[in-house]
Order: sequence, then structure tokens, then C-alpha cells
Amino acid sequence: MTSRTFIRCGRLFDGLSGLAETDRTLVLYGDTIDWAGPTAQAPAPQPGDRELDYSAHFVMPGMVDCHAHISYGNALAQEDIDLYATMEFRTLRSMVAAQAILKSGFTSIMDPACSGLIAPAVRDAVNVGLVQGPRITASGRALTTQQGLYDWYPSWVGVPEPSTGIMTGSMEEAIRIIRQQARDGVDAIKLTMDGIHARRNGGGLIAAYTQAETHTMVDEIHRLGKLAVVHARGKEGALYAARAGVDIVFHASNICDDGIQAALDNSTWLCPSLALLVNNIEFHEPTDASAPWWPDIQRRELVAASQNLRRARAAGVRFMSGSEAGFAVTPYGEWGAKELEAHVRYLGFTPAEAIRCATVDSTRLLRERDKLGGLVIGKLADIVVVDGDPLADITVLQRREAIHAVLLGGQPVDLTPAPTHARHFSEFSQGMWSKVYDRAYVNAHLQPAAALAPQTVA
Ligand SMILES: [Zn+2]
Repeated sequence: MTSRTFIRCGRLFDGLSGLAETDRTLVLYGDTIDWAGPTAQAPAPQPGDRELDYSAHFVMPGMVDCHAHISYGNALAQEDIDLYATMEFRTLRSMVAAQAILKSGFTSIMDPACSGLIAPAVRDAVNVGLVQGPRITASGRALTTQQGLYDWYPSWVGVPEPSTGIMTGSMEEAIRIIRQQARDGVDAIKLTMDGIHARRNGGGLIAAYTQAETHTMVDEIHRLGKLAVVHARGKEGALYAARAGVDIVFHASNICDDGIQAALDNSTWLCPSLALLVNNIEFHEPTDASAPWWPDIQRRELVAASQNLRRARAAGVRFMSGSEAGFAVTPYGEWGAKELEAHVRYLGFTPAEAIRCATVDSTRLLRERDKLGGLVIGKLADIVVVDGDPLADITVLQRREAIHAVLLGGQPVDLTPAPTHARHFSEFSQGMWSKVYDRAYVNAHLQPAAALAPQTVA
């Protein structure tokens, strides 16, 4: 017989009411919430029932990171994502990445773009019980053209097979890849609608596909019953995507009024993913391989995103929450909840709205759909128990020690941090030095000692 679990909540934020109510009880039957209400009116536990006492804590739904690339490996450089590690090593590493995210209070993730079929593989391993991990909604490689991301290398190298992106030379080829990915069991198909190619004189990023091409691909993705999700930082890419009726636009930093209207007309969600921008600004160091003007570019985009996305929100466009975990500045399990802070700081959300966005709203397009979405009767019991009050200070959720417990379908998650692992030689690029040590530099900056003490070589 399935047992019941009684959870005593000091304060319960169910994600739907917008309020934290005191002295509440949740009763779980198996993995599902069976009763919720004031503790004084709760049914009595029977012998064999389990009780969890969080009467000194803030209880809220598990968070969702709708933008986590588990196969990227906290990459220091683009080549680290695409080239060095074997697919087998990447898969094992991705499993640990997914677990690190879960341990930080995120019970579900969406991975929009991975190498090969790594994200669907980790999803399946979790779902059949091979390993504990978050619920995963997965895509495969992102489709794009030379005007999108992924075409980083000289044309005589091309885009290698283990890259997270795939070039589509024609619509025929794009449709073939879409059908292949659908057959291979992805949940979502990702189009990268722009990259770094901009028109001169402030003309903005050039879309990787025409409006007609975007329509063709999105119609086919939907015909096959998959989610159509896109990367678009520029105005044109976001507009084409929203007009074609995609489900989610990631970034949308420069979305225009026509794009906002199209997003409203077609129920397109926006997932700003500001944590990556913010960390690129806040964590930049003079010795970084990125150019000195990199933080300025990021700052300009953050300003644009703040203005345009506030307008989109005021118009009624719906938002999801995703941190773009997977880069060296957004390592797994470290900064996921910084996206909630960014929603408050840069997009004008209240803490309660940011939490609702990252818990209830962000579940809307996940594989589990209606089974998730708030701590109310009938929903899966994905729960985070917090020491502190995130409604008063949203940054509480970023503190590892404040995440008191995480329940996934009612089962406690082991919060012991994953052991920090050394980097395998195959994981990262072969770069060895950050500058050229000519005599002028050495004389100005260093006082090198002899490499070996004299007696060593005597
Ligand atoms: Zn991304």
C-alpha cells in the first residue's frame, strides 16, 4: 500500500495564490499532493504514515531552469563545448551536471541544445530510475545557418559532428533533420534564429532564416507534436519566430512592438536568461580570454533587454525562467536562482512573481505538463524547503545553506554537494598560456628564479 507523507509547513507558498500562508500541511499520497490546507483542519496521520516537520521553514514548489545546457561542461571556450571530450564522457558528465542542478533546488530543467542526444539520454536514465536527477525536457542539436551560432570555425574546418548545433543548407535538409530528431525522441526542437552577424549602422542582428523558412520549420515541428523553441537575441529573429508561432523565444532582448504583438497573438513564451549576461559583466577579469569590450556588449544587451522585456510583460506576454547554465560563468548548481533575482532587479518582477514564474509558469511546456504547477491537490510533490524568506530577499535562494531540503515526487533528494571533480585532459581546449613571454614583458613584470637550484644540475 502506498504510504502517505505529512508535511508540516511553517509558511507555504503554493506558487498560485501569490501568498505565503502560515501553519499549513500538505499530505502526499505516493508522489502526488492529496490534501493541502490549514494544519488545524488536516487529517490525522495513521500508523505507517511519514511526517516531515518543516514548521520552521518556508516551503515552495521546486524551481525550474528552462535554459540549462547539461552537455556544455561549464565550458571555458566554445571549442570546449564542441570538440574535445568524447560523447560518452560528455554524457556521464551531463548526468552529474543535472544532479548538481537538482541539488540546488531545481526539480525540473529544459535543455534546449545539446551534443548528439545527450539530454534525451540523461532524461531517460532519470525516468527509468537508473539515477536520481531532475525532470528533463530535452532537445537535440540546434538547427541553424551561417548567420546563427555554432559556425565558429573557419570554413575549411566546418561545424564538427559533436557540435551542439547543426547547419541546415536547405529547407529540405532542415525538414529531414527535424523529422530525424522527432523520431529520436526529443521533446523540443531548437532553431537558432540569430548569432553574431549584425547589419552595419546599428541595423541589429541578421536573422538566420527568412520568415518563410521559419514558418516552414515551425509548422513541421508542430505537425510532429514537438515544441518549437528558438534562440533570438535580435529584433528580426524574435519577430520571425513569434510570427511563426514558436512556443518559446530564449533571450528576446531586442524584441520590437511587432514581435511583442506576434508573441501575444501566438501564445509565445519568452525566457530572458539574464543570469548569463549579468555574470559576464560581474565576473569579467582583465586576464580573461574574452575581449576587454565583452562586458560592455553584455551591458548594452542587458539595458535593451530590461527595456524591451518590461514592455513585453506590460503588454501581457508570458515569461519563463532559465539561467543558461553550462558555461564557466554559469556553472551547474551555482547560479540558477540568480535568474529570479535578475527578474526582480531588471524586469520589475516582485519576488513572489519571480518565484511563481520560476515554479508554476515555467512548468507549462514541460513533458509533465499539467502534473506539475504549484503545491496544490493533484500535482506532483516537487518541493523546496528554505531557511529564510525569499519573499523578503530573493537572493536567499542562491545560498546553498538556505536550501534545507528538496523533495522530488515526495522523495528527499540527497543534498550532499557532488564532489568537485578534476578536469579530464580531454575536456578542455589545449590552450596553455595567456600571453607571449617576450623579454620586454618578463623584464617589466616578472623576476624569474632559476628553474632548478644549482645543486640539482651540478
Ligand atoms: Zn542557450
